[in-house]
Amino acid sequence: MPVLSALDDDNAVYRTLLESTQAIPWKIDWASKQFAYIGPQIEALLGWSPQSWMTVEDWAMRMHPDDRERVVNFCVAQSQAGVDHEADYRALTKDNGYVWIRDVVHVVRNDLGEVEALIGFMFDISERKKTEEKLLALQKELEALSFKDGLTNIANRRRFDASFELEWDSASRLRQPLSVLLFDIDYFKQYNDLYGHIRGDRCLVDIAQTLSLALDGPRDLVARFGGEEFIVLLPGADATVAQKVAERCQRLIHKQAIPHADSPHGQCVTVSVGVGTVVPDASRHPSSFIEAVDQQLYAAKKNGKNRIEVVDAVG
Ligand code: GH3
Ligand code: MG
Ligand code: MG
Repeated sequence: MPVLSALDDDNAVYRTLLESTQAIPWKIDWASKQFAYIGPQIEALLGWSPQSWMTVEDWAMRMHPDDRERVVNFCVAQSQAGVDHEADYRALTKDNGYVWIRDVVHVVRNDLGEVEALIGFMFDISERKKTEEKLLALQKELEALSFKDGLTNIANRRRFDASFELEWDSASRLRQPLSVLLFDIDYFKQYNDLYGHIRGDRCLVDIAQTLSLALDGPRDLVARFGGEEFIVLLPGADATVAQKVAERCQRLIHKQAIPHADSPHGQCVTVSVGVGTVVPDASRHPSSFIEAVDQQLYAAKKNGKNRIEVVDAVG
């Protein structure tokens, strides 16, 4: 085969290869900032004919306004510095839609090392972006789930710990009180033994719901603390308010009257409550405060259950 015709054949092969791939090839002459070439696939993707891509201005103007400044500045700076680069942006389609593109750019220099041209490929990454967006949404959902108790749908222990730490710091800074109520269902082992675990679960859901209804402060929080234990956080609440909320919770649970044949307290499900109020400062440790509230819960159990015990004035 004659050499010349082999070269021609090669050019044809290269062109066919370039124009049959998903990636869209292009070339920009650096001095004139004009497109020297853009693959015909661009028309199928965005609707704009190859001939309509004249200058870098066309490229910049066919970009989502929110992406334009960032991408153009970045690409110009990288090109001036002679550095290969890539950028993701939304390209405008002829029918006014947008397609996510990844532009991968190689800087071509002459023998003197001066920038001569930019060549690159545009990739349609809309599917990848959709997946990324779905993953992001999923991640958010997982984050939310990781702070929720799976059975009762209220906040879990992790969420309580996080909120408690924040509220403790904030109350400490503002010299404001903070109250905590710790609940434990009475005779719950017997409840399970008598009615079965499934109804035991339902009882936990019902109690969680009732406690949620008893709160009205914008930052009040009820969380599942353990198996049949719940904890309520009342930022800004002094001892009087805390006592009132504890009583309201107990009253609502009485009203709910979940039957418990083995309970000596009206044959209904009841709770014992430990209550504590503190104005946090550096001399107090958050965990010793919770410990003190837990001791009052223990006292409520010891003193006959179905009752509220309050930590002696702290703070
Ligand atoms: P007290 O009146 O002193 O609080 O006694 P109690 O029987 O309520 O407490 P105890 O600590 O002896 O038992 C707690 C019970 O709570 C035992 C356990 O099976 C039950 N429990 C813990 N988590 C769950 C749960 O997720 N679902 C159900 N159905 N029961 C649970
Ligand atoms: Mg318990
Ligand atoms: Mg119990």
